[in-house]
Amino acid sequence: MIWNLGSINADNFYYLRHLPAPGETIAAHDFRQGLGGKGANMSVAAARAGTRVMHIGAVGPDGKWTVDRLLEYGVETQHISMIDTATGHANICVAEDGENSIVLFSGANHQITTQMIGAALAEASPGDFLLMQNETLGQRFAAQTAHTLGLRVAYAAAPFDAEIVAQVLPDIDLLVLNEVEAEALEKTTGARIDALPIDDIIVTLGAEGCKWVSNKAKTVQSFPAYPVKAIDTTGAGDTFTGYLIAALDRKLSMPDAIALAMQAGALMVTRQGTADVIPDLKDIQDHGFDED
Ligand code: AMP
Repeated sequence: MIWNLGSINADNFYYLRHLPAPGETIAAHDFRQGLGGKGANMSVAAARAGTRVMHIGAVGPDGKWTVDRLLEYGVETQHISMIDTATGHANICVAEDGENSIVLFSGANHQITTQMIGAALAEASPGDFLLMQNETLGQRFAAQTAHTLGLRVAYAAAPFDAEIVAQVLPDIDLLVLNEVEAEALEKTTGARIDALPIDDIIVTLGAEGCKWVSNKAKTVQSFPAYPVKAIDTTGAGDTFTGYLIAALDRKLSMPDAIALAMQAGALMVTRQGTADVIPDLKDIQDHGFDED
């Protein structure tokens, strides 16, 4: 089972002719609201990959629909606290030429307390996974508590935050990050990633696939991506990570888990949207990826 300490956001998309200049008011000609946040995306991906996932998070009174949506998608929600503050949200202006500008508000995601995390993890069992990203608070407490309880700790270092990374590094078993984040991590720690005290590090490389740095086995293995026609890369990394941890939770080997996660990531870039369109196992099977 996966315990995912993660953000929940309402993604508000406003479609406009052009982005507003300072002082300008523009009427949007279309509006769409969807479930987002790296945490929610990863919970949905893990659930669609066929594993049990308990989301640990917080939303405000305006976010009841996000919890309902997670539940509908098969995510367990008993440890999402309803608190008296605004739900995290992203207001995304999309202009006709494709340019965008985004206002992000952490809201309830930054009101998660160590009490909430502790109460959830008290129900976890040794061998379960704790998964975390950087859009909440409480990562250090969560990682330390999880380790004490015998959980495996997986961390997606996104969006990159040098302070949080430094705090959690001693308690991480599995790290997932992209190339830019890997470079930032090497700068922060002053060490190459293959010299860090973390058993397994996965560096995702977009259309180039990913590499697995096993510091335990002292090996580095590259995995080419499955070729697809990409139309929207939003959420590919979150989908990859949710699938990867779910597959490992279901006892797949690392190469097999990576293959499944890359197939999910590849399908995701062929779709527009975020949490609502994350593929499930049947979508992947129906697509028939070439295993060679
Ligand atoms: P990223 O976070 O962009 O590195 O993407 C995560 C994973 O999704 C990658 O490691 C790939 O397996 C897959 N992926 C992302 N972009 C593409 C693409 N354009 N074509 C095929 N697979 C992709």
